Amino acid sequence: MSAPALSPWLQRPLGELLRQRGHAWLLQGPSGLGQYELGLALAAAWLCEQRDEAKGEGACGHCPSCHAISVRTHADLCVLMPEVAMQELGWPLDEKSQADIDDKKRKPSREIRVEAMRDAVGFAQRTSARGRGKAVLVYPAERMNTITANALLKTLEEPVGDVRFVLASEAAWQLLPTIRSRCLGFTLPWPEHEDARNWLVEQGVPANDAPALLRAAGGRPSDALRLAAAGQSPKAWGLLPKAMLRGDVAALADHAPAQAISALQKLCHDLMATGSGAAPRFFEAADLPAVPPKVALARWSKSLANAAKTAEHPFNAGLMLEALVSEARSTLNSAGRRP
Ligand SMILES: [Zn+2]
Repeated sequence: MSAPALSPWLQRPLGELLRQRGHAWLLQGPSGLGQYELGLALAAAWLCEQRDEAKGEGACGHCPSCHAISVRTHADLCVLMPEVAMQELGWPLDEKSQADIDDKKRKPSREIRVEAMRDAVGFAQRTSARGRGKAVLVYPAERMNTITANALLKTLEEPVGDVRFVLASEAAWQLLPTIRSRCLGFTLPWPEHEDARNWLVEQGVPANDAPALLRAAGGRPSDALRLAAAGQSPKAWGLLPKAMLRGDVAALADHAPAQAISALQKLCHDLMATGSGAAPRFFEAADLPAVPPKVALARWSKSLANAAKTAEHPFNAGLMLEALVSEARSTLNSAGRRP
């Protein structure tokens, strides 16, 4: 079993990272660029037993170490993630946590748990099982609370032996400054449109749909793939702004509240951009309605940000959608009127 091929726009960054000798990296950048993918590829390369270091290549994909990573059982790799992310990305939880969740004693955590961090600190102090050193992957690193972050900080400050860290983050500004200063920073590059499109098609997205989905995701390939998986129709995306102008709730009916809010935030963003003379990022300019007054857009943007805070636990999803669409409609229809 070989490792999945790394996205083309991450090959060069991986080579750059491998040429340097950092013991703790912070991979940063906006969501959807592949922080997790690159972090895992870096850890796999560190642990690989047959890598051609002179060529600066990544993990070989077929040695016993690479195999152990692909089946999620490498004794020298510690993955620190919120439990929801572990489940989503196919990493096993420890027995006790899995049993507690199965017995409905608690829900899978959305943060990196203190218990998991304690295990990781213990892991860092043990000797390497396969003799190629050890690696700790933390993702998304911004999901550490102050207690877990401080526990990690101690280990980063006094690294024992042959352990290396890769923190991958989509919101690095939320990390403790002391954590950031202990790591070498690396900012992920934006992929070329062509690379991103080809990659989406390789993942099974129809070639005709890929450009529009990529646009809907603001150019971030992983986000575009997520939109495709959530059933976003590229055609419906283009029609969304005008549907909101009419107050058509049906246009968002198959969206979960969080998705609906994210779509409206993109619309609001593009209208603000257009209003200040910049190009829209998520929609085609031709699909956008007339730009409402700045004050109306600012009010809408603030209200959407507030709604986003409660979107995971809406009081009533149907009512929330109706309220969102009604607000979108009144904002969009304020264009041309005096504020
Ligand atoms: Zn290998």
